[in-house]
Amino acid sequence: MQEISLLNSVIGPVMRGPSSSHCAAPYMMAKLARELSCSNDEVLQKAIVWFDPRGSFAPVYQAQSSDENFAAGFAGAALTDADYRDILPRVSRGEGFQFLVEITELENNNHPNRVDLELMVVTADGTERSDLYAGASVGGGMFYIDAMNNEPVFLTGKTASVFVWGEGVGDLADDIAARLTVNGNMLLGTAIDPKYSRCEISLQALPDAKVIAVLRAQDGIDAVWFAEAAQYPVCATDDLFSTSDAVMGVAMEHGGSLAEAGLVLEARRLGLSHAATRDLFRERCELMLRVVAEGFDAKPEDNVMRFLTLRARKVRDANLPGGLGGAVLQDAIAGALSAMERDSNRGLVCAAPTAGSAGVVPGTLYGLIRHGIDLDGATDALQVMALVGAVFAARGTFAAECGGCSVETGASAAMAAAGVAQAFGGDPKQCFDAASMCLMNTLGLVCDPVGGDVEIPCHARNVAGVSHAFSSAMAILAGFDAVLGYDELVDQTVKIGAMMHPDLRCTARGGCAATKTALRMVEAVSHSPG
Ligand code: SF4
Repeated sequence: MQEISLLNSVIGPVMRGPSSSHCAAPYMMAKLARELSCSNDEVLQKAIVWFDPRGSFAPVYQAQSSDENFAAGFAGAALTDADYRDILPRVSRGEGFQFLVEITELENNNHPNRVDLELMVVTADGTERSDLYAGASVGGGMFYIDAMNNEPVFLTGKTASVFVWGEGVGDLADDIAARLTVNGNMLLGTAIDPKYSRCEISLQALPDAKVIAVLRAQDGIDAVWFAEAAQYPVCATDDLFSTSDAVMGVAMEHGGSLAEAGLVLEARRLGLSHAATRDLFRERCELMLRVVAEGFDAKPEDNVMRFLTLRARKVRDANLPGGLGGAVLQDAIAGALSAMERDSNRGLVCAAPTAGSAGVVPGTLYGLIRHGIDLDGATDALQVMALVGAVFAARGTFAAECGGCSVETGASAAMAAAGVAQAFGGDPKQCFDAASMCLMNTLGLVCDPVGGDVEIPCHARNVAGVSHAFSSAMAILAGFDAVLGYDELVDQTVKIGAMMHPDLRCTARGGCAATKTALRMVEAVSHSPG
């Protein structure tokens, strides 16, 4: 079973904050837990997030605003809410509900991004209840919740979910599913767990509230909990992206176009028409370009970065010597910085594939758009970038806690390289070869953010990513031979990630983070009054 979707997991999610693992997934996990626990008009009183001191959340959750995103998710806020950033201070004062972060050794610590959640709610009749959830953020905003009040579940936010408890509910599951799937709503799965007298119905969307109310009132039903999908619902879970040969095969069936293959496969994944899916890709492309534009317009007085100042506009407008790099590259570099400055300032961005690498793809698109590629061409390039990233996700991970920066800016550079090759007429093999070139140069790239903030070296790595994308695409289109295949390089990226010392995997303890300058800077900001 494969749930990777190009729009949800590779050129998404749309999110706030500097890390998809530590911001996007926390927001979605908390929102999902709140929806489930408050299914029957319960009111949230208190929410506690538990991190393991050995994991990667504990050292960086404040610097990377995991706490801000958990709090916003528990509050049920929308990402576009104007007061999104005010929610954490408010709930930390106990306004609305109480919010706490606790660091303690978790019983289950089998992933660096493990987290337990506890929600205390008051039911409509005044009874207090405490609900426990356990899960992990697994990179690129993807997550799972695998325990709910000690009952095993597997929630990824990729479908709407309805849980029904009651004696003999298994016998009613088909009838319940039929009643929930009216008006074309697709049934995406039914799971019965007799041990807990529970059935779970997975749907494309939640049905009307009246349908749920009737179900809840039915004889033999003890409880009904439900939650909407956290992202676009995944309607097909077959293996679409596991090898570059397979997706190139799909391209061959569609006029040799890798962009078309991306569109066709994503439409299948989301159960949408090709036209509707193309609209979503175009919207995502426009959103990325808007993020870049917003970054250029940012005001220095609004900058909340701890170490860096706003530099994107200056880089874009610099009058560099004519022989240095060229205007496309300068624009792409400036665009990447601009998106990263939005990202580090908690603006709305698009992880591509992660928030730490959220500059490479938008910067590349901005460079293309400014130099002769129209919106349709940029959207085609984005579909190719997403497809190449999906093969990476299917074989590996986007979690820097597991693979270092090679799975963030390394992956995004590979994606962008394929998109540049596509934009300038490359065939599917040339697109993947350009991506291979990037990966062979980023094997073993460590994750070492100074002070845990996604600033240094992250912004610089996004600059390197766009440069890498253009230089690889140029070399391949000019006739260089990548020799090594994309899939085997993804596999090596993942293997080397597993060999890396934990100090080099997002714990802010090694590499750039351990330089004397970095330590001095971290010390200085920790004593500054602001
Ligand atoms: S060093 Fe790379 S992987 Fe680590 S936080 Fe920065 S961008 Fe992400």
